[in-house]
Amino acid sequence: MDNDKGLIIVLSGFSGAGKGTIMKHLLQAHPNEYNLSISATTRKKRPGEQEGREYFFKTKEEFQAMIDNGELLEYATFNDKSYGTPKSYVQELTEAGKDVILEIEVQGALKVKEQFPEALLLFVTPPSAKTLKERLVGRGTESPEVIAQRLAISSNESHLMDKYDYLIINDVLEDSVNKVHNIIQGEHARTIRNTDSIAKMQKELMVFSKGE
Ligand code: ADP
Ligand code: 5GP
Repeated sequence: MDNDKGLIIVLSGFSGAGKGTIMKHLLQAHPNEYNLSISATTRKKRPGEQEGREYFFKTKEEFQAMIDNGELLEYATFNDKSYGTPKSYVQELTEAGKDVILEIEVQGALKVKEQFPEALLLFVTPPSAKTLKERLVGRGTESPEVIAQRLAISSNESHLMDKYDYLIINDVLEDSVNKVHNIIQGEHARTIRNTDSIAKMQKELMVFSKGE
C-alpha cells in the first residue's frame, strides 16, 4: 500500500438518512481536508442545481461513451437513469495524497470496494425507521408516493449495511459529523498505512542503539 496516497471514502445510506447534511457540515468544518467527488448522471438537472457542482449532466450517449472509454470508476443504473464516478478526479487527488469522498448508492459502493479493498465504506442511518420516514416527510422534497418508494428501497438496502466498514447512526448531527471525521483520521493512523514511518523509526532507533 502506498503510504502517501489519500483515502477513498464512500458514504452511502438511506434516502433521508442525512448524508447530504453530514457532508455539508463536514466540508464546512474541514474545508481543506476533504474533497467531494462529482458524479456524472443522465438524470435531468433539478432547479437550483449547477453543471459541475452537483453533477456533470450527460446525455445517454455521452454517458455510454464514458463507459466505453473506461472513464468511470463505477456506475449504476436505476429508474432508467445512470450515475457514475469519473475516475480521473479520484485518481489525481488520491495520488496527490488527498482524501476523496464519494456519496454513492450501495451497488456502486460495493463495486468500489471490489476494486479498492482499502477504500473506507461508511453507511449512514437514522436511529429508527420511524425517524427516517419523519426526515423524508420533513424535508418536503418528495410526494407521499415517492417517500413510500424510497422506504421500500431502504428496506432492500438494509440487507447490505453489514458490508460496510462503519455504521454512522445519525441521531445528533454534530456527533455524526465528528464521528465521520474521527473515523477517517483513525484510518490514516492505522499501522498498515504508515509502514514508511515505522521503517524510518526503526532505522533511527537502530542507529541510536548502536551508540552512533
Ligand atoms: P440524504 O442526503 O441522506 O437523503 P438529507 O441530508 O437531505 O438526507 O437529510 C434529510 C432530512 O433530515 C433533511 O431535512 C435534514 O435537514 C434532516 N436531518 C439530517 N440529519 C439530521 C439529524 N441528525 N437530526 C435531525 N434532522 C436531520
Ligand atoms: P439523486 O438523483 O437524488 O441526486 O441521487 C440518487 C442516488 O444516486 C443517490 O443514492 C446517490 O447516492 C446515487 N449516486 C449519485 N452519484 C452516484 C454515482 O456516481 N454512482 C452511483 N453508483 N450512485 C450515485
